[in-house]
Amino acid sequence: MPRTAAPLLTSPIPRVADSDRRRTSASVVLRSVLEHGPVARSTIARLTGLSPASVTDYCARLAESGLIRESAVPLRSKGVGRPHLPVDLDGSRFVVAGVHVAVPHTTVALLDLRGRVLARRELKHEGAGPARVLARAADGLAALFAGARGSRPLGVGFAAGGWVDRDSGTVVEHPLLGWREVPVRDLLAAHTGLPVHVDGHARALLNAERLFGPARGSRSVLHLFAGNMVDAAFATHDEVHHGPRSAAGAIAHLPAPGGSEPCDCGRSGCLQAELSERTLCRRAREAGVADGVNPMHVVAAAAAGDTVAAGLLRERSRRVGRAVGLLLDVLNPERVVVTEIGAMHREDCLAALRAEVGAERADTVAPIGFTDSVPAVAGGSVALDVLYRDPLGTPPEAI
Ligand SMILES: [Zn+2]
Repeated sequence: MPRTAAPLLTSPIPRVADSDRRRTSASVVLRSVLEHGPVARSTIARLTGLSPASVTDYCARLAESGLIRESAVPLRSKGVGRPHLPVDLDGSRFVVAGVHVAVPHTTVALLDLRGRVLARRELKHEGAGPARVLARAADGLAALFAGARGSRPLGVGFAAGGWVDRDSGTVVEHPLLGWREVPVRDLLAAHTGLPVHVDGHARALLNAERLFGPARGSRSVLHLFAGNMVDAAFATHDEVHHGPRSAAGAIAHLPAPGGSEPCDCGRSGCLQAELSERTLCRRAREAGVADGVNPMHVVAAAAAGDTVAAGLLRERSRRVGRAVGLLLDVLNPERVVVTEIGAMHREDCLAALRAEVGAERADTVAPIGFTDSVPAVAGGSVALDVLYRDPLGTPPEAI
């Protein structure tokens, strides 16, 4: 048998490139400032394991970019020595823009670097064709930029339900809007002249929870989004899973146990058909408790004492809880976040949802932390995730 040379030069284990290391280091420094600012550089070094010299260097570069600045109030070190000038996010210079396209309307918003919504507008669709919807979104953003008092937009984040591919920047398929293979990134970039980042809204909101919400620090998080669309997203070790063409999390047509609601796909009893807000609203109309297609009207009726409306909401939350239970068995996350209107607004609905998940794991389930601003946060957090992942990737002065 011929002897073969040992494969010294190739290895299945990837090497960490210097550029990856730099990006990761800049990212953890900025994340530390987000979580702990105002914070001393020595504390960042302790928290991140980077050398004090490295932290000083990254802080200087982040300050040059205008993302952080030295805080005005020095932190006194114990006893003698010169006071530390802590660093904090610089909230005065930059904002990010968000576009979220839902079935009935688009939400445009400006967010600061802490993910807080500074301004927003809701634009009702005048026809759901993508060219018109995205042109109006860009006009809406331009109006918000005009009122932003000198803050410059770093970029635009776009989020929608359905199948959205981050890498190609397209909405691959959104059946309720009738969108297929829409190059959203290119269209919005042409309108706004800004860098545009695109993702599915279940992943976008999970990133918002990971960066700014209660899920910060969790090692694994599942997010179930139950609006008109029903999607899921899953993150482990600070990374939201996308998979090939970002198709992960497409749970709309999983069978809901005991479901009989007809679905657009031709079958019946799919999760999306059962749990959609459209179905909730139709049931509310049939029961005579609320008109129209706005699920908040059902919540308002329940809050005003309508027991039928409250019962419809509880039943839906219970069924969402059952879906969460199924996903928990597959993914075993440390924490679960649900975007579901009942659980977000009513204790009895949250209790019904948790009861269905099971007593042992009920405490791991919480409603999303952005109850009043879900669409605004979803769009903006797509851009903020890119920023925090690679803060020195696109110097603001180049935009
Ligand atoms: Zn279906």
